[in-house]
Amino acid sequence: MPRASMEELEKAALDLIKNSGSNGILQSELWRRLGLDSREGSRLVLRLAKKGLIRREQVVVNGRRTYRLRYTRPPSMELRILVDLSDVMDIPCFTCPYLDQCGPGNFNDPRTCPILHSWLERKARELFGGDGGLGE
Ligand code: SF4
Repeated sequence: MPRASMEELEKAALDLIKNSGSNGILQSELWRRLGLDSREGSRLVLRLAKKGLIRREQVVVNGRRTYRLRYTRPPSMELRILVDLSDVMDIPCFTCPYLDQCGPGNFNDPRTCPILHSWLERKARELFGGDGGLGE
């Protein structure tokens, strides 16, 4: 039978460690189950620990120091994007109580809304100076 690749061994070891639950598994037990000697087993465990997939905890069993191995959840891939809304938050429509009724042809109509109109005038003056190019 061909010998398992390091990737296959890592996967098998990780499955065993994961399935051992919160108690974890002693590394000697892991090596035994995978049919590895201590040199191969140590190398494998260190690779998994280096990748942050397992945690090694030193314990004493029958008077001998060894390691208990526990699965560690991989770091979250959560992506946080910070958005600065300060430039748009003063648009009156964002806080308008009539937003859900507002639309062209309605009683509240953005084309004739005095609140929106004066905000647009103020913005135009800030951007272009004078009357903001509105000709008023
Ligand atoms: S256009 Fe006027 S009425 Fe309509 S949502 Fe904006 S501020 Fe409110």
